[in-house]
Amino acid sequence: MPPLRERRLMDFSLSAEQQEIHARVRAAAQEISDPRGMRQWKELARLGLPGAAVPKEYGGSGLGALDTALLYEGASDGGADTGLLFAAAAHLFACARPIVEFASARTREALLPALCSGDLIAGNAMTEPDAGSDISRLATTATRVDGGYLLDGVKSFVSNGPSAGLYVTYATTDPDGGYFAATAFAVDRDSPGLVAGEPLDKSALTACQASEVRFTRCFVPDDRVLGSPGQGHLVFQTSMRWERSCLFALYLGQQERLIRHCVRHARQRRQSGKRLADLPPVADRLADMKLRLESGRLLLYRACAEIDAGGDPGLWVALAKLAVSEAAVATALDASRIFGGRAFLTEYGIEEHLRDAVPATTFSGTSDIQRQLIAREMGL
Ligand SMILES: Cc1cc2nc3c(=O)[nH]c(=O)nc-3n(C[C@H](O)[C@H](O)[C@H](O)COP(=O)(O)OP(=O)(O)OC[C@H]3O[C@@H](n4cnc5c(N)ncnc54)[C@H](O)[C@@H]3O)c2cc1C
Repeated sequence: MPPLRERRLMDFSLSAEQQEIHARVRAAAQEISDPRGMRQWKELARLGLPGAAVPKEYGGSGLGALDTALLYEGASDGGADTGLLFAAAAHLFACARPIVEFASARTREALLPALCSGDLIAGNAMTEPDAGSDISRLATTATRVDGGYLLDGVKSFVSNGPSAGLYVTYATTDPDGGYFAATAFAVDRDSPGLVAGEPLDKSALTACQASEVRFTRCFVPDDRVLGSPGQGHLVFQTSMRWERSCLFALYLGQQERLIRHCVRHARQRRQSGKRLADLPPVADRLADMKLRLESGRLLLYRACAEIDAGGDPGLWVALAKLAVSEAAVATALDASRIFGGRAFLTEYGIEEHLRDAVPATTFSGTSDIQRQLIAREMGL
C-alpha cells in the first residue's frame, strides 16, 4: 500500500464556489415561494434554474450535474415552492437537456435561449394512457411524409402541459418495432393538430400543472427530430439520467427544511412534563430522518459526479433516485407523526410536504423500476 500522503483520499467537501451557489440561491429562494402565476418563471430564470445545465452560449449557466443539483437543493432548502421547482426541473432535465444533447445546431439556437430565460416553457410527453412503466410499446405513431413526420396519439401526465409552448415527445414509426422504433421530437405548441388538454385536477405539486397532449396528423419537420430516427429511447434514457439525479436534489432541500421544522417543534412542544425532543422515540425518529437524508445525499452527489465524469452513471442514478424519493416519503410520514394532529392542519405545512413527496416514488420511473435497473446493473 502506498504511504498515506500518496493515496487519494475521498473529498466530501464542496468548493468555495459550490458553497456560494448553494448559499446564494438558498437566500433568494423565499422570493419564489408563492407559486401563483407564470411570472414565477421569470423569478426561476433570475435564479438560473430553467437553464442551469444549458451551455452559456445558449443563454444557460453552463453548470455540470453536481452544481445544478446544488442549485435546486439550495432553492428548495431556502423555501421555494416544491411544485414550482419540479416544473422548472422537468422543463430543464426532460426537455432542454435532450435539445442540448440531440438537436441540430439550428434547433438548439432557435429554442434554447428562450427555454433558459423562461420565455418558453417545455413539457415532456412520454407517458401514454397504456404506456407508463413500460414505454417499449408506444401507441403514438410517427408516419413518414415529405419533409418530416405526422404524429398521432395521446400523451398523459404532461407536467407543464397546459402552459408549455414546446413539447419533447416520443412516437413510434413501427408499433411492433419496440425499443428501436421510437423517435424523439421537439414540437411547437401551435403546430396544427396539437391540442393541450385542460389542467388535470391533481393533489400534489400543484404549482406544476399537468395535462394530456393530443396529436392528430400533427406535422413535425425533420429538423425537430432529436437524435436520429429510432434513437428515441436513447434520448429519453439520457434525459432520465439528469432527471433522476438532479431533479431529486430538490427533495434533499425539502427534507432539510422539514427536519429543521420538526427539530424546532420537538424542542418547543412539551408533553408528559418533557420536551418532545427528550422523548426517546421522537429523538430516534429524527435521527432516522437525518440518516435517510444524508445517505440519499451521498448517493445523489455520487450520481451527479459520475455524470460529470462522463462515465456510465446508470447504477448510481438508479440508487440515488430510489433512495432520495423513498426517503422523502418516509421523512414526510415521520414528520406527520412528530406533529401529531397538527400535521393535518394546513397552516403547519406538513400535509403539503407529504402530498408533494409521495409522487416522487412514481414519476421518472417508479421505485419498482429503479430496483429492476439496479438488479440489472448487478448482473442479475
Ligand atoms: C406528479 C407526476 C408528474 C409526472 N410528470 C410526467 C411528465 O412530465 N411526463 C410524462 O411523460 N409522464 C409524467 N408522469 C407519469 C409517470 O412517469 C408515470 O406515472 C410513471 O412512469 C408510472 O406509470 P403509470 O402511472 O402508468 O403506472 P403503472 O406503470 O401502471 O404502474 C403501476 C404500478 O405497477 C408497478 N409496475 C408496473 N410495471 C412494472 C414492472 N414491469 N415491474 C414491476 N412493477 C411494475 C409500478 O411500479 C407501480 O407501482 C408524471 C407522474 C406524476 C405522478
